[in-house]
Amino acid sequence: MRTIKDLDLNNKKVLVRVDFNVPLNANYEITDDTRMQKAMPTIKYLLSEGAAVILCSHLGRPQKKKNEDGTINVKKYTLKHVVEHLASLTGAEVQFASDCVGGETELMAERLEAGQILLLENTRFYAGESKGDLDLAIKLSRLAEIYVNDAFGTAHRAHASTATVAQYFKPENKALGFLMHSEIESADKLLKSPKRPVVAIVGGAKVSDKIKLLEKLIEVVNHVCIGGGMAYTFKKALGGSIGQSLCEDEYMDLALEILAKAKDLGTEIHLPIDTLIADDFNNEANTDVVDTNHIPDDWQGLDIGPKTIEAFRKVVLGAQSILWNGPMGVFEMETFAKGTNQIALAVGEATQNGAYSLIGGGDSVAAINKAGLSDKVSFISTGGGAMLEYLEGKVLPGIKAISE
Ligand code: AMP
Repeated sequence: MRTIKDLDLNNKKVLVRVDFNVPLNANYEITDDTRMQKAMPTIKYLLSEGAAVILCSHLGRPQKKKNEDGTINVKKYTLKHVVEHLASLTGAEVQFASDCVGGETELMAERLEAGQILLLENTRFYAGESKGDLDLAIKLSRLAEIYVNDAFGTAHRAHASTATVAQYFKPENKALGFLMHSEIESADKLLKSPKRPVVAIVGGAKVSDKIKLLEKLIEVVNHVCIGGGMAYTFKKALGGSIGQSLCEDEYMDLALEILAKAKDLGTEIHLPIDTLIADDFNNEANTDVVDTNHIPDDWQGLDIGPKTIEAFRKVVLGAQSILWNGPMGVFEMETFAKGTNQIALAVGEATQNGAYSLIGGGDSVAAINKAGLSDKVSFISTGGGAMLEYLEGKVLPGIKAISE
């Protein structure tokens, strides 16, 4: 896979698709600049190699959240909001083009000098962006001689600036940025040549969202710990009483198939033994801990219980490679956050003991950060959906476009 290290960048105009889709507060100030920080190694390398850097990104969903008169809410979704911070992170001069394509922008790109940055306006101001529009892609391609994709968070989308645009650059003039490369490398480390035993911890609300992941994982890992709301579909399918807990009845057969297939493959699946139940979906609800197979009718399971935490912890501490995707309970509410927090601690501990750990998926990443363990795990993915699809074995359009 070509990376920017394989390119001759001196005095070249380089169009880089980054993911600057950062959260902003009501005053349009950046509240978390992780995504910008993660793009810095690529941007700084390009600048140091003598390139003129043209950055494009989306910010939010301006097409879905239009003004009442049907126009784009430019004030809210303009990438101007990040210009100042970009200049301070890079130490470079940052110019801003108020349209991501067009004559004026082409002129700005042409005049851009080595060591300077031109940030383009939100690519999603054009409806063609999300449709992978050829015309928009051609116009973007006119801005530069080289195309680099470093936006892992949108690599699973075949959009104009993430995929279509790449077809207008010769193979020797396009490459992956460092962030994209490290995300792929870390997933491959788990999927293709992991140190064993490999443990996957999978949680979150729905089995339906994770079924493809589970099907893939049972083929490559040694243990799968299943927690979160999705575990109850498995428990009910096995004959347990799960009360009002989350359940997707239509996925019970598939859940049983996965259990049977895992058994054939010699992959151990660990389901919750006990559960923290509540009489309401609410942080102040009455709670109790019961056997997961015997949840009373009017109660619901909202976190894994202490015996399950201990069992999962043991499996995690015995691992040489760990993948974690999805919370063990409704961790947004303090009362039901213990399972997720304890798993975060176990993953951190196993990593300190020498295991390789990859955290993928927004909620597990949030849990790791909240526990202050972000520097105690091996790799934190920036792309929830993209990482999930890559782990499922799908070819991501953003990666395919570079390799074609
Ligand atoms: P996902 O986006 O599929 O990873 O799911 C994350 C969501 O699952 C979080 O918002 C959790 O609150 C929710 N979740 C986890 N466990 C449960 C549970 N036992 N019951 C209901 N929701 C849950």
